[in-house]
Amino acid sequence: MKKEVRKVVIAGNWKMNMTPSEAVTAVKETAALVEGKTGCDVVLCVPFVDIAVAAEAAKGTNVKIGAQNVHFEAKGAFTGECSASMLLEAGAEYVIIGHSERRQYFGETDETVNKRTKAALAAGLKVILCLGEVLEERQAGITAEIVSMQTKLDLAGISAEDLKNVIIAYEPVWAIGTGLTATPDQAEEVCAIIRNVVCGLYGCCAAEALTIQYGGSMNDANAAELLSKVNVDGGLIGGASLVPAKFAKIVEAAQ
Ligand code: PEP
Repeated sequence: MKKEVRKVVIAGNWKMNMTPSEAVTAVKETAALVEGKTGCDVVLCVPFVDIAVAAEAAKGTNVKIGAQNVHFEAKGAFTGECSASMLLEAGAEYVIIGHSERRQYFGETDETVNKRTKAALAAGLKVILCLGEVLEERQAGITAEIVSMQTKLDLAGISAEDLKNVIIAYEPVWAIGTGLTATPDQAEEVCAIIRNVVCGLYGCCAAEALTIQYGGSMNDANAAELLSKVNVDGGLIGGASLVPAKFAKIVEAAQ
């Protein structure tokens, strides 16, 4: 496996934080701190209402803007949802799909993750597809089975061409927002398992080109070691992405 053939992507997930005015300030601050850091792509995934102003604030910088969810239908009676074309027109280039908080609190399943992913890709968004085991699954020794199944179900029916616009974020649910981080070896082991499943589905060239991020309490102190692993091609960062100085240090670690 060659890390050089893959794009390293450091993405922030702001979750339900930052009003539009706060978002503008944070995007500008982040952009100033990561200026010239061309060794990785930098993305901030913001609440729906922040997308347009964040995209405007990010213009001319190396920060790209993403959303945190997307509906699979193009339009209609789906109160509270946004379509892919709405996100694109507002200025999003990326969208997170299948985050564990969506799976846990909003009934997201591998089936809906797959439908949302297909809709996002068809519209031209890049997808950050999240998957990972819960603590009981890790303790039961079935992490490999769980992430393999999620990878297969979430990517079902997605073409090799569309896979080029997919990033997989391996996020062990027990490590998200808990301060617990997978060890670099644990992250490497599971990212390699996911890559191996993708190799079985799409061939090893496609698998080698796929960016696989680690997410789960990544911060400025642990990023360098996690990112040094051959199968860890970036990070999806929650808490630490809310503080531009901390997020910029993670970007620095990815250079
Ligand atoms: C996340 O929300 O995807 C995440 C990894 O959060 P945190 O970095 O706060 O654990």
